[in-house]
Amino acid sequence: MKSVAEICSDLIRFDTTNPGSGERPAAEYVATLLADAGLQPEVFESAPHRTTVVARFEGDSSDALLIHGHLDVVPADPAEWELHPFSGEIVDDCVYGRGAVDMKGSCAMTLATVLGMRARGLRPRRDLVLAFLADEEATGDYGSRHAVTEHRDLFDGVTQAISESGGFSVTSGPSRVYPIAVGERGTSWMKLTAHGVAGHGSRPAVDNPVATLAHALSRVASHQWPVRLTPSVAALLRSLSEITGQPIDLERLDDEADRLGALGTLFKGQIRNSANPTMLSAGYKVNVVPSSAEAHVDGRYLPGLQEEFLSTVDELLGPKITREFVNLEDAPSAPYPSSFFDELGAALVAEDPLARPVPYVMSGGTDAKSFARIGIEGYGFAPLMLRPDLDYFGMFHGKDERVPVEGLEFGTRVLTRLLTHP
Ligand SMILES: [Zn+2]
Repeated sequence: MKSVAEICSDLIRFDTTNPGSGERPAAEYVATLLADAGLQPEVFESAPHRTTVVARFEGDSSDALLIHGHLDVVPADPAEWELHPFSGEIVDDCVYGRGAVDMKGSCAMTLATVLGMRARGLRPRRDLVLAFLADEEATGDYGSRHAVTEHRDLFDGVTQAISESGGFSVTSGPSRVYPIAVGERGTSWMKLTAHGVAGHGSRPAVDNPVATLAHALSRVASHQWPVRLTPSVAALLRSLSEITGQPIDLERLDDEADRLGALGTLFKGQIRNSANPTMLSAGYKVNVVPSSAEAHVDGRYLPGLQEEFLSTVDELLGPKITREFVNLEDAPSAPYPSSFFDELGAALVAEDPLARPVPYVMSGGTDAKSFARIGIEGYGFAPLMLRPDLDYFGMFHGKDERVPVEGLEFGTRVLTRLLTHP
């Protein structure tokens, strides 16, 4: 049987850059592993080479748990890396390559867990649905969104899901904090357009859309979004002050996030909505005032705050800018406290006595949003014990992405325990 590190290396060697040539070879590899273990994977494509694999592993209860991961990765420039990003080499006990952390390492843990259980004749406590998806690094249109609309039946009976962006360790003094995601900020990607009057660039401008848009974007970019403490983030802050033994001043949360270093990154981007201008285009010649100008803004809002977010954006933009959504997605939120959260935490503590599980909200988004649409409660739980010197957040979409072999082995033990122990 292949080890978790070998599976991780194998997956990294398939160049599944998105946008790129698609996930098919990686999906076929996954399907072969699952079929060899006696499962019956379904392989389907939303477009040529945009491939997803789903398999069901029957357990003792039909209340099913979904474990989903994505097979695509963001681009990597080999010139910036010490080792080739698609080499999958193991050096210094780490598997190197694009996707090691996000999230082929997690896919490898899921596969190693399931293959190990099959080899030992272990049945899961509840039905497991395993999904290895295309297109998470874009909008999921070719992956999770397609899967929940066109292959809804494959997820029958699923009530809860676990996936990326949680369950990893952040070392703090003598304890290891493991954030488990119980929600995500919502996504509001917007295209803004300013209309004006075209004319000669040498004449006094009457209604210049470039200037109108620039003013509006400047208001958006410099807006100080007020702190909004959602219940999950408030719970996280309580846990962190308990773990560190020091109170956290709720009136000065930005300073407190900086003071707490790695632990501060768990809430720094999760205490308010945000909107960042990211793309801009207008005009075609230096002496021509164009009739319109366009920009894109990446907006994110906390669970429950979509309305407040959009009305603030509209106020900042003013009446002369029209806004349309390129992508609008709800901010999903899973129950916390909950018995399932406790199960996830207990599986970590059983394998790492120093583990301190805490609730956490993701600042960005994942495929959990698509599954939330069909009523599945998503938790970010891809267990990984990391060395204190590894900058986990820095490696997401960063260069020299790598994951410790022992971290992967730890995660595989935690998952096996979660799926099999009462
Ligand atoms: Zn990811």
